Amino acid sequence: MEKKDFSAYVYADNAATTRLSETALEAMLPYLTTYYGNPSSLYSFSHESRKAISNARADVAAVLNADPAEIIFTSGGTESDNMAVVGAAKANAAKGKHLITTTIEHHALLHTMKQLEKEGYSVTYVPVDGEGTVDVEALKAAVRPDTTLISVMMANNEVGTIQPIAEIGEFARSKGILFHTDAVQAAGHIPIDVKAMNVDMLSISGHKFHGPKGVGVLYLRKGVRITPLLQGGGQERGRRSGTENVAGIVGLAAALKEASAEMEKETARLKSLVKRLDEGILQIPYARKTGHPTNRLPGLASYVIEYIEGESMVLHLDMRGIAASTGSACSTGSLDPSHVLMAMGIPHEVAHGSLRISLGKYNTDADIEKILTELPEVVALLRRMSPVWPGNK
Ligand code: PLP
Repeated sequence: MEKKDFSAYVYADNAATTRLSETALEAMLPYLTTYYGNPSSLYSFSHESRKAISNARADVAAVLNADPAEIIFTSGGTESDNMAVVGAAKANAAKGKHLITTTIEHHALLHTMKQLEKEGYSVTYVPVDGEGTVDVEALKAAVRPDTTLISVMMANNEVGTIQPIAEIGEFARSKGILFHTDAVQAAGHIPIDVKAMNVDMLSISGHKFHGPKGVGVLYLRKGVRITPLLQGGGQERGRRSGTENVAGIVGLAAALKEASAEMEKETARLKSLVKRLDEGILQIPYARKTGHPTNRLPGLASYVIEYIEGESMVLHLDMRGIAASTGSACSTGSLDPSHVLMAMGIPHEVAHGSLRISLGKYNTDADIEKILTELPEVVALLRRMSPVWPGNK
């Protein structure tokens, strides 16, 4: 197969996925080549795979301030979200069938809630403010005697706003309601402490912090019962059947450990790159930042640029060697503007001009300079062709 050369490409879509770190790759390789035994087998060869999973479990637990027995390996963020929400809803159906979430969750969560509604559950979708922060008072007011689960994401994947998880966790615990958080965008980027945050369940995905794709974690607090999604060989203490993705699990743990160790330094570096981006991008007429001004993921910069179609902007940036995104990666292909921006009260026509630049550990100052050279030219070019741009009237 002919391979294209992307060596000069500026990859600025780390919220969609990330490049595997060298540390994670090194950690994984032996489990793709030498130690390929099935962790469930009895002979000594398989002990190596089993030991690797056990070490990975301990490493992930240490990063989250959890107990290793509370860590379940899954196939990624989508499965972890499904497992938490469906598993908790079903296990507690006799107690009640009311669930609470927000309007800005990822589709892995929202579509799961919609499915549960079809199955007879009722769901309250709590609104957010103009900066994408969930209305905690509305969330508290939504609680009913039959509420069994609250699910609020830790940080939003489109605008980067960080939610008041500890406050919601404390409230949910005081009411005896289970609390799940989708930490897929947060893990490896901001500190997480499941105990301090009073979280009962938390979802993570390896590929969002320079780990491999197709592997994730569900943290499940000791004593919390959920109905498993998958039936089979009883792996992960019967909570998630299926032969374990040994190399993936090892890679996820290595990447998470590395990201935690580098977090303080990397946060400062990413914030300064984003500051430089903001200074340049906000000089473009009718461009503004979306999401919370300060309480946001360090590497995620999101904007709306009026009188521009986000899709055209992304395609033109790609032709100039830059990968960025408009709205969420999962919504590309759909013509509707992002449900997150709409929930934040951004008008339909403005939301169409959304641009997300998400930086990771491999981005450099030179990447930012290239974006700041190319983006204003792309915007000017598209506006010259636009029937709605006031300058053309
Ligand atoms: N939740 C959030 C907030 C995400 O950003 C994503 C991926 O974009 C997911 C869940 C789904 O994760 P995965 O791609 O590992 O299934």
